[in-house]
Amino acid sequence: MAGKVYIVGAGPGAADLLTLRAATLLRAAQVVLHDDLVPQEILDLCPASAQVINVGKRCGHRGRSQEQINALMVWHARETEIHTIVRLKSGDPAVFGRLGEELDALRRAEVEFEIVPGITAASAAAASAKITLTDRRAASALVVVTAHNCRNESLSKTVEPARSTYALYMPGPDYSKTAQGLVEAGHEPDTPCAVISNAGRSNEEVRYLTLHELASAKGISAPAMLIVGEVAAQHLPRRHEDLLSQISSEARDPYNQDRFPIHSSLPSDRTW
Ligand code: SAH
Repeated sequence: MAGKVYIVGAGPGAADLLTLRAATLLRAAQVVLHDDLVPQEILDLCPASAQVINVGKRCGHRGRSQEQINALMVWHARETEIHTIVRLKSGDPAVFGRLGEELDALRRAEVEFEIVPGITAASAAAASAKITLTDRRAASALVVVTAHNCRNESLSKTVEPARSTYALYMPGPDYSKTAQGLVEAGHEPDTPCAVISNAGRSNEEVRYLTLHELASAKGISAPAMLIVGEVAAQHLPRRHEDLLSQISSEARDPYNQDRFPIHSSLPSDRTW
């Protein structure tokens, strides 16, 4: 019987941010092909009998080529007795994870597969920075984008920056180039940003700055995310009076009897 490949999102790198489905599959895995960003505490969920293979590549270090990874998945599923193969990818497999190429290979080889989503770095980074990614008052679009892409397209080819949040994966190491690209794409230099490294992990680090300040900022340790847009200013304390002045006088009295009649007795036509 041919094996099945589970393409599983490992989340941002903390074991307790893994989905229950991912943890169950890891405990049942016979072979695990994982990326470099997946930490040991997650790999520790695999049974001792499982073959755990690091197929990842980090900046500067050569890992296996995409073709080799595809071939490993297909070979284990088609040519061995193994039935549970987990392809473990950081964050969500469908976000900057070369998932498309892996799915093509599995479909071509007629290998059965299933995708298990994970918490993507943008969500984990926003949680670490204590901000929201969309906000009906300031950001009605979320643009998931990378500073690195194989077609060398500039950031200006993406979406209109006004009222959008940009969640930028792989922003470094040259923040000045990234900041310049964002300004050329139409962002104002004083647009608030948050740089979040190791989001969701015990060593997470958050810095809030403007795009202008980002241009000369010292690199933050990888992996890091850059969140650009008005939402990044939300962590700033707002004065209590500012908030109160925005609330209409009607809404200040939530128990206003005329607006929200409170029934003190049961309707008379009702029998109980
Ligand atoms: N599929 C992954 C992204 C893979 S690309 C996901 O959905 O999250 C790798 C990039 O993701 C890193 O260069 C970094 O920009 C970002 N990243 C991954 N984990 C991160 C973390 N814990 N904190 C901050 N950024 C992270």
